[in-house]
Amino acid sequence: MACDFAALGSIDQNDPEQVSALLHECMGVAFSPQLWIWAIAITVIGALVGAWIGKRRNAVRRDAILGAALGPIGWIISWNLPARTAPRTCTACKGVVQPGDAHCRHCGAKLIA
Ligand SMILES: [Zn+2]
Repeated sequence: MACDFAALGSIDQNDPEQVSALLHECMGVAFSPQLWIWAIAITVIGALVGAWIGKRRNAVRRDAILGAALGPIGWIISWNLPARTAPRTCTACKGVVQPGDAHCRHCGAKLIA
């Protein structure tokens, strides 16, 4: 018995033995190592392509997760999201400051625009 719609349509659904046999067959397909190897490979490829896109946009982790979770749809989303800019840091204390700040909020040094 194969796990497909033809088998589902042809079995006597009131016979527990036939229903159990089809369920067992379908569970075997769901836990097939070949299926899982393909699923893992597709996920890894999605993450790698997403990371490649993210590397150009300074968002490797974000775009790798999008690629792994959504595949080609995630790549399209990554490609269309705005690129991240590196955080601005104070030249005196190396603290992270906001883009519009005139003075460092950590050491008070005047920031160059
Ligand atoms: Zn500072």
